[in-house]
Amino acid sequence: MSAEDLLMGEFQLIEKGTAGAGHKRYLGARFTCRFCGGNNETTTFKTKAHAIPEFLGNHQLILNSECDNCNLHFGNTIEPHLERYTHPFRTLNGVTNKSRKTPKHSDEKIDFLQFDRHTNHMAVKLNEDDVLTHHEDENTVSWLMQRRPFVPFMAYKALCKIAVSITRDENLWLFKPTLEWLNPLSPQDLNISPALVVETLIPGMHYNKCVYKLYCRNTKTFPHCIFWIAFGGYSLMTIVPTLLDMESGVIMESEVPFLPDPRPKEEIVIYGQQQHIERDFSSRDQDSFPHKVRVRFNSMEVSPVAKS
Ligand SMILES: [Zn+2]
Repeated sequence: MSAEDLLMGEFQLIEKGTAGAGHKRYLGARFTCRFCGGNNETTTFKTKAHAIPEFLGNHQLILNSECDNCNLHFGNTIEPHLERYTHPFRTLNGVTNKSRKTPKHSDEKIDFLQFDRHTNHMAVKLNEDDVLTHHEDENTVSWLMQRRPFVPFMAYKALCKIAVSITRDENLWLFKPTLEWLNPLSPQDLNISPALVVETLIPGMHYNKCVYKLYCRNTKTFPHCIFWIAFGGYSLMTIVPTLLDMESGVIMESEVPFLPDPRPKEEIVIYGQQQHIERDFSSRDQDSFPHKVRVRFNSMEVSPVAKS
């Protein structure tokens, strides 16, 4: 048994993988949509559906079992919310989007922020001078990034959609309630509260690919399933509804373990401990969760602003 197995307690790893650039890989049965139940007589399968949205850096892993209608539906409804929520993480780490570019950030106080993944340079142009706080004792700089408003519950639903997309056909029965909830043709809604999302900053880490893990336990304890996905220097962990949660006698109060630190001990000493933020994504109102950034620079240059 590995150290990770011990730390995860009763949870067992049922799916894992990576997805980045490179040759396409395909998942799931062809011509049967796992979301709406359609087949090639009732719907079409012309578009390559990404099992993990491309904006998270997956240009590789394709889900066969997602029809064009469902693909369009998810792209128009839940995925834009996850896109906005993850935008600061992806900008800071230079995670490539659909057009293979690193995203740019701007908000009321920051005119422009972009990370160059080839040179490791970060360019920031401020609208106001007091946005940055320089902590001279630690040689770090901190600032706040504002997200474009998004609906947390929709971003949570998009994370659950990824979890059931990377699941092999033989394990799908577990996620029947999630698949029904995601089905655009079904009126079924789910109320999950708290819809736990743990965001973790892994200092000094830089995943070049998207890495994911899906854990499950069969102990009559909610949650039965945990999904974890990492990109750049961040990871997100969430709970995914399963058929096991609906059984009678399920204990609803439980502790969910954090995934163990993926870095070697020496790196933890150099860069410091992981930082977790636990959030409840059950709100259906727009929010923007300001993202606090603290960065250590090797060098910094102030460019004079051109006089107009
Ligand atoms: Zn479909």
